[in-house]
This record gives sequence, structure tokens and C-alpha cells, in this order.
Amino acid sequence: MESSGTVKKLAEELQKLPGIGRKTAERLVFALLKSKNGMALSLSKALTDLYEKVKLCGICGGITETEPCAICASTRRDPEIICVVEQPLDIALLERTGTFNGTYHVLGGTLSPLDGIGPESLRIEQLINRLKEGKVREVIVATNPTTDGEATALYLAKALRPCGIKISRIARGVPVGSDLEYVDEITLIKSIEGRREI
Ligand SMILES: [Zn+2]
Repeated sequence: MESSGTVKKLAEELQKLPGIGRKTAERLVFALLKSKNGMALSLSKALTDLYEKVKLCGICGGITETEPCAICASTRRDPEIICVVEQPLDIALLERTGTFNGTYHVLGGTLSPLDGIGPESLRIEQLINRLKEGKVREVIVATNPTTDGEATALYLAKALRPCGIKISRIARGVPVGSDLEYVDEITLIKSIEGRREI
């Protein structure tokens, strides 16, 4: 593609997204240029809104436009059970199964000493503070069954033990080494139902 500065810049920005290579980026830019119904403008509006309106919930760390998020604010959710996940996206995946009625807590990743990610880089302190309020009776650790995810689950089990509450881990229905993102809903439901204490 013969690129103007603007076209090149947009293609470069798109390539920073996961799963988008140079060719796809150029194809997307071309589609936007070709569209006659202002697709570029509505996309730019949606992106501005995303930047300005969407934030992370102060309690659970999930994606929200309100503070707190709808799940944390809901009186129909069970505040006594907290499901700990790695990323905000994991909340959406678990919500889609419709089986979990507690609340969530996003860690923001997993422990990864080689990448310099220690406990202080994750939202563990905030989780302990939530537990200190005394309302929670169970924490379900739903980190991915990867090496880092398992190590994080073990670390959490140790760190939370003094709080004296039940700590469980999602069952092994989730294939080892995989991300929750790639697991089908039935497996995800089974993994929550079959959780075991750690
Ligand atoms: Zn929340």
C-alpha cells in the first residue's frame, strides 16, 4: 500500500493490538477509507468513549462505567464469595456461564518473578483489605492453570490463610497450560462447581 503519513500512523497503531499484523492493519485502514457511512468517525467516537468513560472498578478491578461496577453494587449478588481472576476479561467469561453469583476480584496478572512481577504488582493488598471487612466466607481462586497461575494460587492460599476463611481453587476441568479465554462454557461451569479447598 502506498501510504500517506496518516494512513501509516493508523496502521502502526492498529498493529499494536493483539492478533493484528501489518497486512491486517493495512486492510482495516483501507476498509475505513472506503466506507461511505462515516465508519472512521463512529469508530473514533467509540474509541474516545472507551478512553474517557470506561475505567476499572475501585472494589473489584473489573471494567466499568460506574463506580462501583454493577456486580459490586448489586444486592442480588452474594458478597460472601469472591472469585479471584487474573484479568477483567475473565469476569465477562465467567458471567457468560451464569453459574456464579458471588463477586469478583481482579489481580491484574499473575506472579512472574522472571518478568519482575511480584505480589506488590498485583491487587493482593486490596483483596486482603476486602477480606478484613469480615463479610467474606470463601475465596475461589480462578487464575489460569498455567505455571504462573498455579504459583499465584499457592501464594494466595498462603497469604490469605491468616484471614481464616475457606480458600478454594477451580477444578482441573480447565486444561493445564491454557487460558480461561479458550475454555468452553461447560468446562468453565464444571471447574467452578468442582472447586476444591486449598
Ligand atoms: Zn466491581
